[in-house]
Amino acid sequence: MTEHSYNGWPASPTLATRVITPVSGVSFRVADNQNVEDIFTFLAQWYDTHVEALKGSVADDWGFAYRANRNDPDELSNHASGSALDFNATKHPNGVAISSTFTAAQIRKCDALEDCLEVVAWGGNYVHTVDGMHWEIAVEPGGLQDVGARIRQKKIGPVIWIPDDGKPVDLSNMKSQFRRAAGAEKGKVTRHNGVGVIQTYLNKRYSAGLTVDGLVGAKTLNAWGRHEAKVGGQGRPRIPDRKSLAALAKGRFEVKS
Ligand SMILES: [Zn+2]
Repeated sequence: MTEHSYNGWPASPTLATRVITPVSGVSFRVADNQNVEDIFTFLAQWYDTHVEALKGSVADDWGFAYRANRNDPDELSNHASGSALDFNATKHPNGVAISSTFTAAQIRKCDALEDCLEVVAWGGNYVHTVDGMHWEIAVEPGGLQDVGARIRQKKIGPVIWIPDDGKPVDLSNMKSQFRRAAGAEKGKVTRHNGVGVIQTYLNKRYSAGLTVDGLVGAKTLNAWGRHEAKVGGQGRPRIPDRKSLAALAKGRFEVKS
């Protein structure tokens, strides 16, 4: 009889696994499945670049491990099926509040990462025992569908508008604009990389020289401020005004190549 971890993936001490491309020199062993590899490669790389570095003085990043769920010993951990990763375990121990081990900006980035991948859960948002180090595939094997392919085609990416100082920006009326702007590229992008579309627009319209990474730091805010000044907006990039957003939505048609 095949055993399963609690997310429904087959688990075994002798599970067929593969090692994903090392991220900053850190290797992860995961289930032998292309979707899982694509998802976890994207997840680990993005986390390493934008949340915090994986490589530290301690080897405390884990993938496949045949063992019970630490928070419910009667069931197998998702690590037992190669469908979970732990990042910087010593920094973010099981059961410790994420607000005491992550900054507010890091938590927003983790939330955005979890949200954009759709099929992944972050232990930091567990309702019972929080597990800030832990990321897992949260659907059964058939539920992954084309997520890996969409990652490879760069159709998935987090939407975050956080200045470098970590103070949040008013996003209340921006999400629909992101969707409208993103929708302009002939279905090639999703709402999740709307910021990337805006960065591409700012690069083409104003030669802003931004890295198209879906993250809003000081450079993107400065470019947005120039856009606001140009279109007669209020010039306060932290609080994008309707006029500037409308110009952006209109301007998307100018982005041809
Ligand atoms: Zn874990």
